[in-house]
Order: sequence, then structure tokens, then C-alpha cells
Amino acid sequence: FRKALRDKRIDFITASATGISRDGNRVTGVSLDNGETLEAGIVVNAAGPNAGKVAAFAGLELPVEPRKRNVFVFEAREKYADMPLLVDPSGIYVRPEGSVYLTGGAEPEEGDVAPDPKDFDVNWPLFEEVIWPTLATRIPAFEAIKPTRAWVGHYDYNTLDQNGVIGPHPEVENFLFANGFSGHGLQQAPAVGKSIAELVMHGGYRTIDCTAFGYSRVAEGRAFRELNVI
Ligand SMILES: Cc1cc2nc3c(=O)[nH]c(=O)nc-3n(C[C@H](O)[C@H](O)[C@H](O)COP(=O)(O)OP(=O)(O)OC[C@H]3O[C@@H](n4cnc5c(N)ncnc54)[C@H](O)[C@@H]3O)c2cc1C
Repeated sequence: FRKALRDKRIDFITASATGISRDGNRVTGVSLDNGETLEAGIVVNAAGPNAGKVAAFAGLELPVEPRKRNVFVFEAREKYADMPLLVDPSGIYVRPEGSVYLTGGAEPEEGDVAPDPKDFDVNWPLFEEVIWPTLATRIPAFEAIKPTRAWVGHYDYNTLDQNGVIGPHPEVENFLFANGFSGHGLQQAPAVGKSIAELVMHGGYRTIDCTAFGYSRVAEGRAFRELNVI
């Protein structure tokens, strides 16, 4: 993708946005931590877990914050290569990944707040005390498993309804959101990218109408939930 974009003379700049300027109801530029300021006809907020902060640069409220999430890898004697992704009603999920299994989804609601941005420490007791017993109850063969690796990431968590916020701000129309995917943004990325590109190029959706994910529901406090996502 990078090479194809370079061939089309798209510039890549490695820097952090630190501010967004506005002239009334239009955003006009982005200041960077390297001292540069970019003029902008359109600004797209694609800042993942940092999206709420970036929206605030433009004086806009967006309920998207980081949330710490642990993913654990384990080996099991029993191989269920054709096992689908399973989600327990508690939110704990498990799926095969090659010869091993991936699991997570046990973070308690209580105390689930924005973490220190540098906190990527794995919470092993979550695996031992919560996930493993739940898996073993559902799938007795998972009594005998061996955890091998684990990592932590930060969800781009929409505190209103854990769903994407896509498209222009209703008043500041040249500020576009592509935010808040809350743990399911990877699978939606191709559609979101295309939709945002259509907004930039044509000023409206051409293939996938993402209006239902628009910012208006955030302004109205109207949740748009998707069930059975992790
Ligand atoms: C543990 C974990 C498991 C997940 N599992 C899945 C899954 O199974 N399926 C799925 O669909 N999704 C999953 N997700 C969610 C998915 O990873 C995200 O929804 C997706 O990556 C969001 O993509 P994005 O491009 O919007 O943001 P990101 O991928 O977070 O990218 C945001 C970018 O913005 C940059 N940025 C932030 N602030 C600034 C700034 N001020 N200036 C310049 N740049 C900035 C960041 O450096 C980063 O490069 C998971 C997430 C986690 C944490």
C-alpha cells in the first residue's frame, strides 16, 4: 500500500499531531510536534485509542478512550483445527490460531478505565483465575493446557456504544471521523477506508452508506449497538 501511494505522490510525514486550527466551522490546519504546520482542506481523525484527544484539538468532543485488553496464547493436547471463534456469555473468547489457541475478553467492567498510555503489562491472574476455569468448563479438554505467550493492546473504545464513529462532524464538516471501533476495527477497516475515501473524493458515500455510524448519534447520546462483538 505504501509503495502504491508513494507512486501516486502521496507524502508520508512521521510526526505527531499536537493541535488543529479552526476558522469558525472549518478546520484549517494541523500542527505537528516537529514544528511544522500543515494546511488542510479536510482532516481525517484516524488516531485509534487517541482519537478523543485528537478531536479535542479541534474543540470537538468524541467519547473514544483507550482501554487495556489482554490476549493470551496457549497450547492444548487436543487439536480442534476447525473450531470456530467461540464467545462465552461472559465475553471470554477462544479460537484456534494455527497450532495454538488465542483467548481473552475477561476484563471486568468495574475499574475498566483509560489506562496509562505506557501500560502494556500483561495481567496473568486474569488468565489463571478467570479465563482458564471458564474455558475448562465449556471445553473439558482445555483443563490441560499450557499458556505460552501473552500481550496487551489498547482498544479504541467508544464509551457511548462501543461502535465506530464514521463520517463528518455535523457542523465542522471538513473534520471526518474514522474512530471508536472498540475491538472490531480491523475487520471493518477495508469498508471504513473506502467510505472515508469516498467522502474525501466525492463529498458523499458511493458504495457503503455509513450514515448510521455518523456523529449525530454521539451528539444526541443515542447508542447504536452491535451485539455479539468482542
Ligand atoms: C488486543 C486487541 C485485539 C484486537 N482484536 C481485534 C480483532 O480480532 N478483530 C478486529 O477487527 N479488531 C481487533 N482489534 C481492534 C483493532 O485493532 C482496532 O479497532 C483497529 O486497529 C483500529 O484501527 P485504526 O487504524 O482506526 O487505529 P490504530 O490501528 O490504533 O492506528 C491509529 C494510529 O494513529 C496514530 N496516532 C495516534 N495519535 C496520533 C497523533 N496525535 N498524531 C499522529 N498520529 C497519531 C497511532 O500512532 C496509530 O498509528 C483489537 C485490538 C486490540 C487492542
